Amino acid sequence: MAAPPTQSLVLSFEDARRVTEDHASRLSPGAHETVKLLQSAGRILAEPIAADRDIPPFPRSTRDGYAVRAADVAKLPATLKVIGEIKAGPRPGNVPPTLNRDETFSIMTGAPVPQGADAVVMIEYTSLQDGRVEIARAVSPGENIVAQGAEAKRSSLVLDRGTRLNEAAIALAASVGKSRLQVFVRPRVTVLSTGDEIVDVGAEISPSQIRNSNSYSLAVQIQQAGGEAVILPVAPDEPHRLRELIDQGLRTDLLLMTGGVSMGRYDLVEQVLAGMHAEFFFTGAKIQPGRPVVFGRVSGGAGAPSTSSGQVPTCETFAPLPHKYFFGLPGNPVSTMVTFELFARPMIEALAGMSPRPLMFLHARLKSEIRIKPGLKRFLPAILSGEYEDTQAELVPWQGSGDIAARTRSNCLIVVPPDREHILAGEWVAVMPLR
Ligand code: AMP
Ligand code: MG
Repeated sequence: MAAPPTQSLVLSFEDARRVTEDHASRLSPGAHETVKLLQSAGRILAEPIAADRDIPPFPRSTRDGYAVRAADVAKLPATLKVIGEIKAGPRPGNVPPTLNRDETFSIMTGAPVPQGADAVVMIEYTSLQDGRVEIARAVSPGENIVAQGAEAKRSSLVLDRGTRLNEAAIALAASVGKSRLQVFVRPRVTVLSTGDEIVDVGAEISPSQIRNSNSYSLAVQIQQAGGEAVILPVAPDEPHRLRELIDQGLRTDLLLMTGGVSMGRYDLVEQVLAGMHAEFFFTGAKIQPGRPVVFGRVSGGAGAPSTSSGQVPTCETFAPLPHKYFFGLPGNPVSTMVTFELFARPMIEALAGMSPRPLMFLHARLKSEIRIKPGLKRFLPAILSGEYEDTQAELVPWQGSGDIAARTRSNCLIVVPPDREHILAGEWVAVMPLR
């Protein structure tokens, strides 16, 4: 059902977020490709990975010390005969060592615990003399040993499809013998900035013009979310050229537009999309920055011809093609960046094959009080400071949602609930860390 653009669909932050998460959860990622282990860093795993053997593959000593039978050292002091040394790595002849009553092996961290031993006494509690060791501390069975297969059993799943490959996941893949991994191909996400005043970096500029920065911030955010950015030329505030560029953008997996979604006479994005019978899920969210954010989808985007006749074209003349999602992000640069994080990121992550994850906030103590008009949920640029567990958050002074310089001085957003007018210094506030 297409909603006309004039019918405003302004949702609370939570409802708008839920809508994007719902749609994201129904998306399917694209094709797979096989890449070398290190090239998979930051990519999304497209195959389940199982352990090729038990982890650890043998009972592993976690200490340097002596492998013992716990029963032999129950009464202290105990003296045991040292019958050899076990270090990490293969043994000469590959004969597994065995321990009998009142005997011990000296053992190194990471080495296999011999048969018959059920604990390791740390070297700090022992003294060695003439081939015998005196033990000054009792141990319980299992102490200082990780049992064979305790971390993962052979053939059990250790990494699932949809996992983002961070350093730990790559280490685990290496430890189960995977030198190449299947990952999802990155989704292609189009960036379309709009506005007659916007010119590209490097072009001649007049005093009334503004350089395009949103296409660049969005391209970086798209890459960080696992997508590949396709930047289109800036669209003028003119419906036909705008429509042509929207059509181009709809040929990729997702279209992100910026600007042209406010209430001004030349804010044409919604109007052009409505002419394409777009379905709007929301046309605003009760947040600041970012109130005019638009989310919807349109069918018939891929390969649809554009028209250069006098009217804003409609999609009736085109064959129905799969739905394509779009966001109309506000043009103010900080609003663009914030609304990307709040709403567009989960869609890109889903297209990239990543398992959905909830949006989570941390908490910090407020360093200086906040006074603000209630009514909107605020995501205000702020700086986290302090040391260790004593993290504090403080707003950075800013000139509003166009102030990119203030955003560069911030490293988080403080979340102010819509019903709070005054938050005292020292109160706990929710913060969203930024990269
Ligand atoms: P709009 O939403 O089109 O009314 O734009 C809001 C503000 O954001 C205006 O001051 C625009 O000049 C500015 N703006 C819009 N698009 C961009 C862009 N791509 N780069 C930098 N600033 C922009
Ligand atoms: Mg504009």
